[in-house]
Amino acid sequence: MSETHRSVIIIGSGPAGYTAALYTARASLHPLLIDGGPGLGQAMQGQGGQLTITSEVENYPGFPEGIMGPDLMARMREQVARFGTEFVEEIATRVDLSQRPFTVWVRDDVYRADVLILATGASARWLGLDAEKPVWEGGLGGAGVSACATCDGPMPVFRDKELIVVGGGDTAAEEALFLTHFASHVYLVHRRDALRASQIMQKRLFENPKITVLWNKVVTEIHSVTEKRVTGVTLRDTTNGEETLRECSGVFIAIGHKPNSDLFVGQLDLDPNGYVVTHNEVRTSVRGVFACGDLQDHEYRQAITAAGSGCMAAIQAERYLAAEGAGSTPEW
Ligand code: NDP
Repeated sequence: MSETHRSVIIIGSGPAGYTAALYTARASLHPLLIDGGPGLGQAMQGQGGQLTITSEVENYPGFPEGIMGPDLMARMREQVARFGTEFVEEIATRVDLSQRPFTVWVRDDVYRADVLILATGASARWLGLDAEKPVWEGGLGGAGVSACATCDGPMPVFRDKELIVVGGGDTAAEEALFLTHFASHVYLVHRRDALRASQIMQKRLFENPKITVLWNKVVTEIHSVTEKRVTGVTLRDTTNGEETLRECSGVFIAIGHKPNSDLFVGQLDLDPNGYVVTHNEVRTSVRGVFACGDLQDHEYRQAITAAGSGCMAAIQAERYLAAEGAGSTPEW
């Protein structure tokens, strides 16, 4: 057991956590970053977060040729290390936000922080099929199964192909519409006979001739993922149990995300879906605790927006500490 005290501790090492580390390190705040450890792929993300299980990232500015998700995260890590960020390569197991300094436990080791920046991200929900496992473990977006159309949709393997999107919410609707820019046709597979998506998104879906909704259907099997490509899915009708095979070249799972906020339940205000509620961009319900990235953003969920909010959290943390250091009560 050890005990450490820092001005700034950051939990989480996706684009939000790394950017918060970069800014606080360059502000000479000597941040400590608890990075989640090596992780277990998408089922349980560690260092680098969700981007480590995607393939090519083409929408992060500054990389005109695109960059592989794991490479982007490795470069971010290298950059924050260069400015003296110290890493704890483990998962934070418990926090106490009831008094300052705040306490974070990593097993029996105790870390105390004057300000905390939470950047634990979110995890895509999966159907639980065996065929999805290679994606959790290694990032086979290019092989045909993905939880992010924005990330993987524009890849050549999906061009002019028939694709499937699973889900009935706004994300599924948005992904289906986005994929019509590349696919020859998109089938939206939904388990009920009514969508959860907003009316405006439903209208856009129904008006798009390249989208067909397959009602009352669930995907029970994805075929040929082991050969690193998708050839089709088995669909089960939820009303009569009948199974059918549908050929396709890609399956996009869009059944929602789960913010990684279990650690903060009962200590921070969370919205009904478990996202940390923030005001003034990155301030949580507890003074001195900032949250950034997908942990508090269910709308944009992009690497660049996460990085942007990590920057905001770092700048606000720096101002908070400076105000305290000058003897005034920091704004909240
Ligand atoms: P939602 O929880 O809204 O929708 C999830 C969908 O997946 C539901 O239709 C649900 O079915 C289906 N689903 C869940 N589990 C399974 C399963 N195991 N098998 C098959 N289907 C399943 O998540 P979203 O990510 O779509 O949206 C999250 C929030 O973000 C919402 O508030 C949404 O409005 C918002 N959002 C807004 C956008 C915008 O405004 N542009 C864009 C994207 C998201 P069922 O309906 O039967 O429960």
